[in-house]
Amino acid sequence: MDHFELKNGVMHAEGVPLPEIAQAVGTPVYVYSSATIARHVEVFREALAQVESGPEGPLIAFAVKANPNKAVLATLAGLGLGADVVSGGELLRARAAGIPADKIVFSGVGKTADEMRLALSEGIFQFNVESEPEAEMLSEVASAMGVEAPIAFRINPNVIAGTHAKISTGGSEDKFGVAYDRALAAYARAAELPGLSIRGVAVHIGSQLTDLAPSRAAFEKIGVLIAELRAAGHAIVTADLGGGLGVPYDPAKPVPPLPAAYGAMVREVTTGWDVRLLFEPGRVIVGNAGVLVTRVIRVKQGVTDPFVIVDAAMNDLMRPSLYDAWHDIRSVTPNGADMTANIVGPICESGDTFAKKRAMDAVEPGDLVSFMTAGAYGATMGNTYNSRALTPEVLVRGDDWAVVRERQPIEALIAADQLPPWM
Ligand code: PLP
Repeated sequence: MDHFELKNGVMHAEGVPLPEIAQAVGTPVYVYSSATIARHVEVFREALAQVESGPEGPLIAFAVKANPNKAVLATLAGLGLGADVVSGGELLRARAAGIPADKIVFSGVGKTADEMRLALSEGIFQFNVESEPEAEMLSEVASAMGVEAPIAFRINPNVIAGTHAKISTGGSEDKFGVAYDRALAAYARAAELPGLSIRGVAVHIGSQLTDLAPSRAAFEKIGVLIAELRAAGHAIVTADLGGGLGVPYDPAKPVPPLPAAYGAMVREVTTGWDVRLLFEPGRVIVGNAGVLVTRVIRVKQGVTDPFVIVDAAMNDLMRPSLYDAWHDIRSVTPNGADMTANIVGPICESGDTFAKKRAMDAVEPGDLVSFMTAGAYGATMGNTYNSRALTPEVLVRGDDWAVVRERQPIEALIAADQLPPWM
């Protein structure tokens, strides 16, 4: 459920008409709904209310990569969420937004010694270590600092997630985690190393999962591993089940499993594990809480269907060009008429295409269009290709709205380049 609705024929974000924001901030612009974010947190939390997770209950660590805007993170901090970070930059953002260090987990295959030092000095909850060489580096860094790093190994369960290949992470050929069959050896090695304190197991098999079976299969394997690790003498007190729950993008497709069904499955599989459960949801919290508002520049005749050229491009929203992702595309002021069109941006790449042969609201030059479900992996993947400024972001709360990232002036982009001394 989201809070982007037509009121008197005009799409609103909660109480704010989108044309008001487009007029004041310009387009393209990302618009986020605080009420939708809060609702999704509540639904996710409710879904986990029945799981067994020790006295503290589950730790929900928002995957910062999905939407790292400081105002979004501060909204989530206010709702009690922690953070799953994959870089020093994300860690600093989470902290700057008020997320306590002891609610932060650090994932990622390429943590550097500097990032490890930063995370240790902040006192994060847990490192999700993705290889034995990483454990060795972390051991050296922590020992030199005279501290102990709390660790879980991220296990690659060799389960095919059934999602797009570029967001599938749990197959044996994927770069993520320690192979399931090597897990016992990895824990044994870590137990020998100074500066590490083994505390758990982690798994994350992919994103935009629309079927619970692969997650169930992965979690069942983790349950078996926890028993084996305990038998080998390791004290396992946390199990991090990652993120991955899909959201509806295309209204014509079956709705992905709801958080309640996910929670019931988790409960079934994990009851009796005797651990604190951790979750790293990203998309399910913020996906439907954001739209990208863009204006039609012109409509160009095509051989079969017209090209609707909008002022957003693949640099603003990469998902369609990167993953062939489908976003619902709606007029902000629909007039009841329909059209079939190719929706494209101004960038000089054929891949700068948001949709082909799309049946959609009829639009004309000057009209505003919304790309729906753009709150996750949208602005965060933005870049400046074709010397286009990063997209501004706006947060709405009720009838209020505020710019939470300014449109970067193109002069700032140019000023960041420097001429070498010989020019
Ligand atoms: N955790 C890890 C380690 C991830 O790599 C990701 C995303 O790729 C997530 C959590 C969040 O996934 P999602 O946004 O699908 O919930």
